[in-house]
Amino acid sequence: MTTTSGTTTAAETTPPTHNWAGNLRYGFARHLRPRTLGELQEQVAAEPRLRVIGSRHSFTAITDGEVALSLAGLPDDVEVDADTRTVTCSGGATFGALAASLEAHGLALANLASLPHISVAGAVATGTHGSGAGLGNLATAVRALTFVTADGALRTVTRGEPDFAGAVVHLGALGVVHRVALDVEPAYEVAQTVHPGLGWDVAEPRLREALGAAYSVSLFTDWGPAGVTAWVKRRVGADPLAGTTSDFLGARAATTPQHPVPGEDPVACTAQLGAPGSWAERLPHFRMGFTPSSGEEIQSEWHVPAEHGPAAVAALRAVHDEIAPLLMISEIRAVAADDLWLSPMQGRDTVSLHFTWVRDQAGVEAAARVVERALAAYDPRPHWGKLYSHSPAVLASYPQADAFRELRERWDPEHVFTNDWTARLLD
Ligand SMILES: Cc1cc2nc3c(=O)[nH]c(=O)nc-3n(C[C@H](O)[C@H](O)[C@H](O)COP(=O)(O)OP(=O)(O)OC[C@H]3O[C@@H](n4cnc5c(N)ncnc54)[C@H](O)[C@@H]3O)c2cc1C
Repeated sequence: MTTTSGTTTAAETTPPTHNWAGNLRYGFARHLRPRTLGELQEQVAAEPRLRVIGSRHSFTAITDGEVALSLAGLPDDVEVDADTRTVTCSGGATFGALAASLEAHGLALANLASLPHISVAGAVATGTHGSGAGLGNLATAVRALTFVTADGALRTVTRGEPDFAGAVVHLGALGVVHRVALDVEPAYEVAQTVHPGLGWDVAEPRLREALGAAYSVSLFTDWGPAGVTAWVKRRVGADPLAGTTSDFLGARAATTPQHPVPGEDPVACTAQLGAPGSWAERLPHFRMGFTPSSGEEIQSEWHVPAEHGPAAVAALRAVHDEIAPLLMISEIRAVAADDLWLSPMQGRDTVSLHFTWVRDQAGVEAAARVVERALAAYDPRPHWGKLYSHSPAVLASYPQADAFRELRERWDPEHVFTNDWTARLLD
C-alpha cells in the first residue's frame, strides 16, 4: 500500500503544501488517501508516524508532520437515527455537507462555528466553538467517536465510558477519527440581526448580559472607541423575535447586510435583516461556497472564565493602539462549560476573545504576545488551532492534562500520531 521509491500508489496523492490560510508551510513528504475502511486500517498499521489532516483550517503546526492522512477519499455515509436523535458521519465530512443531510431529515445540530467549511473531526479535535452562553462547543455534541488506533484496530468511545471525556478533544494525538456520532434535535429556524454602534459603556459592564441575550450572540470590535457591533441570532420559538428595526441593548439593527470584516463583501455572509430561516443558514456567519472571513489572514483566540470577561475586555481595549496595525477585526463570544479534559471550556463558562489578523506572521506573533501579556491575569486558554505562543505552560490550567498524557500512552504508546507540536506540549 505504501511506497519507498518516492512514487505514489493509488491510495496516495500529492501532499498538501500549506494550510487554508497559507501562513503555514507543511513539511509533509507523503499523503495517504484511503478509499475504504480496510485500506485506512492497513495504512495506519504500516506507518511509524502520521498526522491526520482535516480541512486544513488550523493556523498552527498542530496539523503538520511527515506523512499526512486524509479521509477525503472515503464515502460520507451519513446515518440518521431519528429515534435516538443521533447522526453518524465520516470524520472527514464538513459541517456544510452534514447540515444538508440533516436538513433533508428535518433535524439540526445545536450550534455551528462561524463557517460550515471545516471538517467535523478536525473541529472536534480542537474544541472548535460557536457562540451562545447556554451552548457548549461543537465537541460537546459528540456522542461517540470511532478511531482507527495505531495498530489499525477500531476503537469506539461512547459518552459515559471512562475514556470518553479524555478522548473527544484529542489534538489529533490518539488516532484517526473514522466516524463521529453527534446529538441532533428537530430542525429549527433562526433570525439574524446585526447591530452596529453598541457603546463600551454598555458592552463592557454588561458583557455577560449582552452575550446571553439571545440564542447566539457575537460582538465584533477593533477594541477602539467605536464600541462593538452585535450579531444576534435569535431562535424562533425560544427567543423573543425582532424585526429589522429593533434594538439590541439600545443599538438599532442595520437595514443593509453586513460583513464582520470592514470593507469585505457581505455576499459571503448568511442572511440577516431578521428574516427567519434554517438554523444551518443563520448560525454560521459565512456561507458555504464563498470564502469565509477575509482569506488573507491569521487568527488567534484566547478563552477566559466568563467572570473575567469584562476585565479582559478592558485589558484589550488598553492595548488597542499596539495591536491595531495588525488587526482586521476581533470577535467576543460566549461558550458554556463542559467536562472534556482538553477542551478550552473545560470546567468554566467562557468568554472567547478572537482576533482576525492581517497575514504577517512575524507581526502577528508579536501582537499575540501583547495580547497574552494583557490577558495573563485572567487565566487565558488558547484556541488549539489558532496562533499563540505554544509552550507546555498552556496546559497548567487544565486539571486533567496528566490524565490525558496517561490516556495517550495507553492508546498510542509508540507515539505514531505525534508531531513536533504535540511533542512540545505533551512529552
Ligand atoms: C476562516 C476560519 C474561521 C474559523 N472559525 C472558527 C470558529 O468560529 N470557531 C472556532 O472555534 N474555530 C474557528 N476556526 C478554527 C477551526 O475551526 C479549527 O482550526 C479546526 O480545527 C479546523 O478543522 P480542520 O478540519 O480544518 O482542521 P485541521 O487543521 O485539518 O486539523 C486540526 C486538528 O484536527 C486533527 N484531525 C483532523 N481530522 C482528524 C481525524 N479525522 N482524525 C483525527 N484527527 C483529526 C488534525 O490532526 C489536527 O490535529 C476557524 C478557522 C478559519 C480558517
